[in-house]
Amino acid sequence: MFLKADFSYLHAQHMTENRFREVTYSQLIDPDNVFGSLYRMRATYLYTSVAKKTFVKTWQARRGSAAARLPEAVKFDRFHAFGVPATPHIALVFTKTEHLSSDFLRYSCHFCPGDEVWLVLPKMDGNIHQNPIVRMEEPLVPVADSLIFATDVSPPRNVEHGSYVYFDFKAKDIEVLQASPVDNTCSGVLCDGQFESATCGCTKAPSKRHWTLKITFSCPPMDQVANDELSIASNRLTRLLIDEEVRCWPASYPRVDPFDIYGDVSLLVRQINRKAGFRIKGWFKPSVSKNDATAESYAFHVCYLMPCASLTDTQNLLLVYVILKLA
Ligand SMILES: [Zn+2]
Repeated sequence: MFLKADFSYLHAQHMTENRFREVTYSQLIDPDNVFGSLYRMRATYLYTSVAKKTFVKTWQARRGSAAARLPEAVKFDRFHAFGVPATPHIALVFTKTEHLSSDFLRYSCHFCPGDEVWLVLPKMDGNIHQNPIVRMEEPLVPVADSLIFATDVSPPRNVEHGSYVYFDFKAKDIEVLQASPVDNTCSGVLCDGQFESATCGCTKAPSKRHWTLKITFSCPPMDQVANDELSIASNRLTRLLIDEEVRCWPASYPRVDPFDIYGDVSLLVRQINRKAGFRIKGWFKPSVSKNDATAESYAFHVCYLMPCASLTDTQNLLLVYVILKLA
C-alpha cells in the first residue's frame, strides 16, 4: 500500500495528486492499456451500502483469451458506487470485510455523496449490469479542486436501460413539493443522513443522531421519466437551509413546525432558482428482472442537491429570517 495508515488526509491528498498520474475512464476500461505503476482516476462518490445479499459478477472475454470466465458469486461487507464526471458511467467497488471497508473509507470524514474523490490504482475486476467492478487496495482520497464547471450529464430518457447511469446537471426550475424533518438520522459525514431508516454505510459515525430535512421536489427533465417523486434527505442541504441550533431540538418540538419549514424552504429555493440555480447529481437504477414477481422497478436517486453558487446577500437575509422565525 502506498498511502500508509498513518498519513493524514491532507498528506494522502498531496501524495496522490503529486505522485500519481491521472487516467481517464476509457483508459481504465481498455484491456490493451498499460499503465505505469502510479495512476489515479477522478470519480464522484455516490453512496455506500451494507451487504444484504450476494452479487453475481461476470467477465467479458478479453482480447487474446478464449472465452469469458464463468460468473462468480461475490460475498462482501460493503458496496460503493461512483459516477465518472462528465460521463453517464458508474463504477462499483466491493470491499469484502469490515476491516477492508474501514481502510477503504479511511478519509470518509472528508467527503459526502456528490463530492469528487480519487480512485487510487483502480483495477478492472468484472462487471454487474454492464457496470464495471473496480478492485482497489488504496483508500479513497478526496480531490482538492473539484470540477466546478463540469459538463452537464442529463438523466437518461430511456428507462429500459439495463445498467446504472450517472447524472450531474444544473437546474433552475426546482419546485419544492414537500419539506419536512426526518427524525433520528445518522450524523456521519459519509452517508450525509441520506439513509432514512436503513443502516447507512458509515464506518465512523458519531453516535449522536439528529433530524434531517427531507425535500420532495419536481425537476422538469426527470419528472417526465421518473416513476416516483424525487426526494433527498441530506445533512449538507439541511445545514444550508436550517440553523444548527434549531436542529438540536427534537423534530417533535412544537417550534419545529412543518408548515413553517415548507413555506420558508420553498421561498428560499425559488430565490436560488432565480439566481444561480441548483446542481443535481445522482444515479438511475435499472429495474431488476421484469419476469420476477419480486421485480423492483427502476428509480432515480438524487444524492446531491445544492446551489450552483454561494447564497447571495438577499438569500442570506432570507435565511436569517427563517432562522429567527423558527427560534
Ligand atoms: Zn451514516
